[in-house]
Amino acid sequence: MNLEKQYEKMGISPEVYSFCENIWESLKARFDKIDETAEYNQLKVLQGMRDCHVSEACLYPSSGYGYNDIGRDTLEAVYARVFGTEDALVRPLIACGTHALSIALSGNLRPGDELLCPAGKPYDTLEEVIGIRPSVGSLAEYGVTYRQVDLLPDGDFDYENIKKAINEKTKLAAIQRSKGYQTRPSFSVESIGRLIAFIKEIKPDIIVMVDNCYGEFTERTEPSEVGADMIVGSLIKNPGGGLAPIGGYIAGTKECVERAAVRLTTPGLGKEVGASIGVNKDFFQGFFLAPVVSAAALKGAIFAANIYERLGFDVIPDGTEERHDIIQAVTFGKPEGVIAFCQGIQNAAPVDSFVSCEPWDMPGYDSKVIMAAGAFVQGSSIELSADGPIKEPYAVYFQGGITTWHAKFGIMNSLQKIVEAGLVAKESLK
Ligand SMILES: *Cc1c(COP(=O)(O)O)cnc(C)c1O
Repeated sequence: MNLEKQYEKMGISPEVYSFCENIWESLKARFDKIDETAEYNQLKVLQGMRDCHVSEACLYPSSGYGYNDIGRDTLEAVYARVFGTEDALVRPLIACGTHALSIALSGNLRPGDELLCPAGKPYDTLEEVIGIRPSVGSLAEYGVTYRQVDLLPDGDFDYENIKKAINEKTKLAAIQRSKGYQTRPSFSVESIGRLIAFIKEIKPDIIVMVDNCYGEFTERTEPSEVGADMIVGSLIKNPGGGLAPIGGYIAGTKECVERAAVRLTTPGLGKEVGASIGVNKDFFQGFFLAPVVSAAALKGAIFAANIYERLGFDVIPDGTEERHDIIQAVTFGKPEGVIAFCQGIQNAAPVDSFVSCEPWDMPGYDSKVIMAAGAFVQGSSIELSADGPIKEPYAVYFQGGITTWHAKFGIMNSLQKIVEAGLVAKESLK
């Protein structure tokens, strides 16, 4: 049976198939470039594992206090090696990306210190960590003040005002690599490096932390290789490779990592305790696969951008832009588009393909939100997933896809549902 027939069996009409297939073909040169980055990063990760002597014993579980957990300690050495840092903290005890960022911040800031965000507002969940929105246990409650410098209208750093914002209290600067769910561009590692150099020239002892979520392995270097003292991320995004069932990481200078570790566990215990239970094998193997998995997600994002751009929808980033993270936004302008898109992604999933997702009132949001996630790991956003708030401008954000072919099919299926909902005329697919 040929490929088109197989897609037809999966519910993709011949029109949608040939429209998508032509776009896929046109992107092959670009996909080759992404594969080259994956190849480069695959070697980088492999070399880290060889250098650190990952052994079979590293894959076994530990329990109780987790003293001398060779797998955990070796994995942390591998992360440090690959990301070019002195040390790393990579733990299943870190519940999510926000938790990793929270301990990195609270471990490294003291009462009277000031935190600076020199590149605009941080990720939503950090607002309560910092105390931008008042919250129990925030840094603000511990006497850490906060200052923010927004980006210039053209999306560049506002160097002049960053310089003015740095003062004797400024202790830590936090830069978010990915735009997350904002409309600004994501930052290249190179531009993050320029910003770090600028900040350190003004005040060399400022600790620079980069929120690296969604950015890992999309380029050949990580922000830690251009001057960041700490990079922080989630293992149910890129570096977990789709296999990590939980976890977060902090990679950076010995001092920064130690300070975060004593916040995660306790003063005096730091990195010495924390059993890895049975996650070591998945953490190692997921990290090993992460360059290729991140490449699949990147290809899916670019494929979707080109499909929906061709059909006249606003897409961020656009079809040709360079990528610095795996997130894609498509603006449909009406709720039906967001709903049909998400239902197509859900229906394409390996898990829960038979459920139909609907918009609902989620805590913390000011509108209904629809979410598509048929993932092996709950909420995993390195797996193909999408969500969209049901409000103007009716945009959907999606990311992930642990294999190229699943990402491709998911996006084709989203278009199929959009065509079936009558939101795109069949003639536009010619
Ligand atoms: C996902 C994300 C976070 C938070 O991670 P959670 O695992 O959802 O807590 C923080 N910053 C950015 C840029 C993210 O994409």
